[in-house]
Amino acid sequence: MSVNAQTVVILGGGVGGLVAADELAMRLPPQHRIVLVERSAVHAFAPSFLWLMTGARRAPQVTREVRALLRPRVDLVQAEVRSIDVAARRVEAGDGQTISYDHLVIALGAELAPEAVPGLAEGARTFYTLEGAQHLHEALATFSGGSVAVVVSALPYKCPGAPHEGAMLLSDYFRRRGLSGKVELHLFTPEPQAMPVAGPALGAAVDQMLRSRGIAFHAAHKLTAVDPGTRELAFDGKPSARYDLLVAIPPHRGPRVLREAGLTNDAGWVPVDRRTLATPHEGVHAVGDVTAIPIPGRWKPDVPLMLPKAGVFAHDQARVVARRIAASITGAPAEADFCGDGYCMLEAGEDLAGFAFGNFFAEPSPDVRLRRMGKAWHVGKVLFEQWWLAPFGLRRRALQLALEAGGKAYGVRVTL
Ligand SMILES: Cc1cc2nc3c(=O)[nH]c(=O)nc-3n(C[C@H](O)[C@H](O)[C@H](O)COP(=O)(O)OP(=O)(O)OC[C@H]3O[C@@H](n4cnc5c(N)ncnc54)[C@H](O)[C@@H]3O)c2cc1C
Repeated sequence: MSVNAQTVVILGGGVGGLVAADELAMRLPPQHRIVLVERSAVHAFAPSFLWLMTGARRAPQVTREVRALLRPRVDLVQAEVRSIDVAARRVEAGDGQTISYDHLVIALGAELAPEAVPGLAEGARTFYTLEGAQHLHEALATFSGGSVAVVVSALPYKCPGAPHEGAMLLSDYFRRRGLSGKVELHLFTPEPQAMPVAGPALGAAVDQMLRSRGIAFHAAHKLTAVDPGTRELAFDGKPSARYDLLVAIPPHRGPRVLREAGLTNDAGWVPVDRRTLATPHEGVHAVGDVTAIPIPGRWKPDVPLMLPKAGVFAHDQARVVARRIAASITGAPAEADFCGDGYCMLEAGEDLAGFAFGNFFAEPSPDVRLRRMGKAWHVGKVLFEQWWLAPFGLRRRALQLALEAGGKAYGVRVTL
């Protein structure tokens, strides 16, 4: 190994970690080492959990071995990250393995904490995990009618579109099973409107999409407890509601290992420079759901808007960080910046989707628009899923070209 050889350690092999590893593998000269630490041997593509719930996918179709999604030069350490020492620049993983780094990329995502709301873990199903979506699919198969409550139980949560997509796909599922007249669908959220981070116009458009599918949308409902015995939801300052099937987006929290390392703010997320994703610690960057990035605007006078937790941002941020690290190692100018652009294909059922896109750093508040619903956005989402899960090779390249060409045809910037 040459004297100048450096080690980049990536924590987490989800969206941000995989993209960072790929970009670094393409950009760093071979003497430099890239190590990715991930506790799970298998990666699951979360946007497809919604299709797992409805039966449009089975688990093997939306999962891959992590190793298969990494280029050969990336060293995979399959282990739990147990501690991080930013002063000594090292990480403890598994049973006492120490890994030293020159550059650290934290991409550990968000943890789910259903136990944070009394009764939620016992009373609710969820499509926010692979196993949860599988179990929910089984529960749906025997559901013959009643009140279905989709509940965002706390803020923040990943993917601002997913609860709305979940409710619309459930509506479509019940329609296809001939149960529309027998099912009442409700969506509860503590937020003041649908997708407040995207502004009032987009919120109104999503609200309209929900209503046209017969989904009752209840804003400003903060869940405080669930009684699985009486099947009742208690809300802060609002009347309680009864359910027959409860589908919850559980509370989220930052990974414990980051809190213990002193890397988080009071809310448990990692503050970063929004342009470079650098943390205040030398050589340490963080990307994706673990980060806390304020954006222009407020959704209450005392509550600033935060960049949503979404794969599209984890993806873009990881590419920026990898390019900046590669540039600093090779001595090239660091030109990559995260600019706050994001998009989301919003599944609506019947193979239709809407498309929200815009700039979340726009002043005085995020500039996000919704394009008319159509089949093309749904096809785009399927193509993206296929590309994400494809092994390196010709098929992956062909899918990438198809996505980029499709994006161009519809006036959308797609960079994979
Ligand atoms: C149902 C659903 C639908 C979604 N749909 C969309 C969508 O349409 N568009 C979109 O942009 N986003 C969507 N998202 C959000 C998207 O999946 C996340 O924002 C994205 O995965 C975040 O990437 P990340 O790298 O920050 O974290 P993750 O992808 O969650 O990766 C974190 C990784 O770290 C690993 N890890 C955690 N702790 C440790 C530890 N201590 N040791 C070792 N490994 C550890 C985990 O196993 C995991 O693999 C959706 C999410 C859900 C749940």
